[in-house]
Amino acid sequence: MTASAPILSLRHVCHEYGSGTHRDLVLSDVNLDISANDVVALLGPSGCGKSTLMRVLTGLITPTKGKVFHHGLALHGIAPGVAMVFQNFALFPWLTVRGNVLLAVEHLPAAERDAKVERILATVGLDAYESTYPRELSGGMKQRVGIARALVASPEVLCLDEPFSALDVLTAETLRNELARLLADKTNPLRTMILVTHNIVEAVELATRIVVLAANPGRVDQIVANPLPYPRDPKSPAFAAAVENLHRILTHTTLPDTHTAAGDAGKVIIPVDETHHRIAPVIIPAVNAGEVLGLLAMLPAEAIDIFDIAERLGRDFGSVVNLLKASELLELVQTPGQNVIITEFGRQVLAASTLDQKKLLREKILKLKIFELLTRLINVQEDKVLADDTLLAELQALLPHEKPRVIFRTLVNWGRFAEIIQHDQRRHQMRLYERKKPRVLAGPGAGKG
Ligand code: ADP
Repeated sequence: MTASAPILSLRHVCHEYGSGTHRDLVLSDVNLDISANDVVALLGPSGCGKSTLMRVLTGLITPTKGKVFHHGLALHGIAPGVAMVFQNFALFPWLTVRGNVLLAVEHLPAAERDAKVERILATVGLDAYESTYPRELSGGMKQRVGIARALVASPEVLCLDEPFSALDVLTAETLRNELARLLADKTNPLRTMILVTHNIVEAVELATRIVVLAANPGRVDQIVANPLPYPRDPKSPAFAAAVENLHRILTHTTLPDTHTAAGDAGKVIIPVDETHHRIAPVIIPAVNAGEVLGLLAMLPAEAIDIFDIAERLGRDFGSVVNLLKASELLELVQTPGQNVIITEFGRQVLAASTLDQKKLLREKILKLKIFELLTRLINVQEDKVLADDTLLAELQALLPHEKPRVIFRTLVNWGRFAEIIQHDQRRHQMRLYERKKPRVLAGPGAGKG
């Protein structure tokens, strides 16, 4: 053990899920050091690999490439002295609050064990609830039990995976304050915390360093130092400035410049013929067409900030960014800077009947390269019927860094919505949408001759 080494280090860590031809690269070349007195927030859009990174740090997952060090030594298995709190509480329903907490220190002599449990229950404000069962507790109280269970073993590092996301705003705020208090309390051994979050305010409130992750594949985009003294006042100008700075960084990271991406659509691509000359088509964000229209309907006439949209929709930033990317790809909105403005075409779609909406969007969707691929693929099949597996294999080959099933689902959703394809879920195949020919009314001469 090296005294000066960081508690946890990652070197060139890559992680893939799946096996064989169905592999998804989720983390790419991540380097990170976590030392004593660090409170590190892992911040980024949904699906960018935050939880995976956390699991790699705790040793719950062994990365497919790269090294994890614990106090300078290669880590094998779960890191000692590292406790984890999960988002969904993960309590045993048949045990009382005390029983749940006791589990973590079962190996200790009874007197020491009982004293620890008592102390920790008091620390997190659960002393009056020790005989209560989880089903009788509110979400906030359950999460306290989760935190107590993690802390009772006197961990050196506490890992929290979106611990407050299932809680109401006030309860989350109270728990965050208590964690900040625990960190400041010198009699408590806890010095280091790693927190997965997609909530910027939460990150600024707790973290000394904020690791901003970019997606596809997950990687460290920037590490932002947050030297504000504790306790932090969310109403102070310095706090607001830190939040604003992160807003800007995250917007840049997650919305790099959709115009460039849309511009790529002009490239000659995807001959699915014998030349096998493939250029990745523009990827469509994994959102449903109906959701895009939902977003459009809630946009005000004037420009609106992306973060205000997230707040109004009650959705996390990452999922709103995905919705906006999709909307921008379909030319329904523009996103200059952090603002969102509905386009003329967007207004037209909004004012149209459901049938006309489908028609208007069909024209835009058919221009997307990935739909060009899809229609071409269907047309080169002998019977013009494309098996789901064939499309999946094609997507896998074309977009090795993407998740083919996710793109597949989105393609089918958009294709069905815009009446471009008909998908047979039972037979796992699709064909181009057959538009019924308008019925020709029988004229005066019909039937004669
Ligand atoms: P985040 O915490 O940032 O939302 P995750 O680390 O949970 O991201 O997931 C990153 C990506 O890896 C997601 O696309 C998710 O669907 C995928 N993923 C997560 N866990 C697994 C798993 N056990 N098997 C396959 N894919 C997974």
